[in-house]
Amino acid sequence: MNNRLYGNLIFELSKSGRKGYSLPQNPYHYATSDLPATLLRQQEAELPECDELTVVRHYTNLSHNNFGVNDGFYPLGSCTMKYNPIINEEIAAMKMFAGLHPLQPVETCQHALELYFRLQESLAELTGLSEFTLNPCAGAHGELTGLMVIRAYHESRGDHQRTKVLIPDSAHGTNPASAAVCGLEVVEVKSLPNGQVDFDDLQRLCSVCGDSIAAMMMTNPNTLGIFEHAIPEITALVHDCGALMYYDGANLNPMLGACRPGDMGFDVMHINLHKTFSTPHGGGGPGSGPVGVRAGLEPFLPTPRVMMADDGSFAVVPSPDGEQSDSSLGSIGAFFGNFGVMVKAYTYILSLGRENIKMVGPLATLNANYIKESLKDVYELPIEGLCKHEFVFDGLKDKSTGVTTMDVAKRLLDYGYHAPTIYFPLLFHESLMIEPTENESKETLDGFIDVMRKIAEEAKTDPELVKTAPHTTPIGRVDDVLAAKHPITTYKQMKNEQ
Ligand SMILES: *Cc1c(COP(=O)(O)O)cnc(C)c1O
Repeated sequence: MNNRLYGNLIFELSKSGRKGYSLPQNPYHYATSDLPATLLRQQEAELPECDELTVVRHYTNLSHNNFGVNDGFYPLGSCTMKYNPIINEEIAAMKMFAGLHPLQPVETCQHALELYFRLQESLAELTGLSEFTLNPCAGAHGELTGLMVIRAYHESRGDHQRTKVLIPDSAHGTNPASAAVCGLEVVEVKSLPNGQVDFDDLQRLCSVCGDSIAAMMMTNPNTLGIFEHAIPEITALVHDCGALMYYDGANLNPMLGACRPGDMGFDVMHINLHKTFSTPHGGGGPGSGPVGVRAGLEPFLPTPRVMMADDGSFAVVPSPDGEQSDSSLGSIGAFFGNFGVMVKAYTYILSLGRENIKMVGPLATLNANYIKESLKDVYELPIEGLCKHEFVFDGLKDKSTGVTTMDVAKRLLDYGYHAPTIYFPLLFHESLMIEPTENESKETLDGFIDVMRKIAEEAKTDPELVKTAPHTTPIGRVDDVLAAKHPITTYKQMKNEQ
């Protein structure tokens, strides 16, 4: 931060002729290739030329400007930014996993197929569903895949008119987006003041829409961190219409060990491995959004699938030259999905084991309630009562100071904390959504509570300090309106003086 190289782009540090590394002659140089002349470069690519130490310092300094779960407390609600144990990375980096090729013969990668198969089985057991596909690459991709399964199911029964999806107004934005991408029409279900689905509104919608409903998408606990108590009534109502229940399992963390979506009557769900099973997104890795279905829906799952044969060996179905089954969706992405995330998720499941994994949900819930109860006298708690893994404040309790949720979030950066999720969900004006996960010690939670109280105090005694935060970060408060209205999306290269 304190040297003059800080803040430059690697291109700005470039000096013509400087070398950090010399590569062997490239025999495939474009000038000697068979590519048509129109496709060839007219001039050499302008790559930065720097010595090795400058490169190392540049990227090391950049990495210090990042804030990850390994840097400090990261209470980003709805994102389950939980610790990714080191052993996950060690196992995923083993040559037998990291060195695989997706097209290598199945006899040579039985260990990887077994891991894949066992993870499918573990997820089925943890959720009470029948079978899983691990192919989808993120939560939203899982939602789309799950809705495609539901649509395929209805179409297999000649129910072509089922084109509507019921989605509560508290849902994550990906839910209506996935429904729209799947070509389905979104019908919004209202929430009650207590944050739960308005059952009367749902009843009305079901009687109006009836056999045009394909599915209802629900998140439980919902994005307010509240457990939907009417699930048995809701699933019965939706099933009576002939529609299926979709469970957005991105919030599965507080359910681990406590209850299972399959037992609650859900038919299809996705899981965010990169939330509930460590490897948090934003930690530099890709995601994974496995989709599970209840018995009877398995034939619609996408391919390829990994199955165990009678002799205990593992097979890919269909084999690369085999026939696709009639009902399967077919491929929904490249090969098998993001295998590295699966290795980490399975490592995480095995490290915890059958008994300890039951503690995840209850501890995540305890931590969230501890913070909520410790702060609700200074922050506005719009919905009282027990929450699950996360909860939402509606800004500071004392609104007279003019200090907003944005200001509180920025001031937290000065104290070395990642900000919670802000202005989501949209149900409140000053939403501040906090999710601590189960991994944090009581000391960490107490430290965060102290700082949140301190900021509430500053808002009274020195509101300007909070309104102009952050003060200790390399870049202060950015003008987000200007950035949105006049985005500069290209970088103009400044030539270095030689
Ligand atoms: C994170 C999240 C999603 C989307 O998952 P991605 O992997 O980011 O696509 C969907 N629903 C809920 C409730 C979420 O929290």
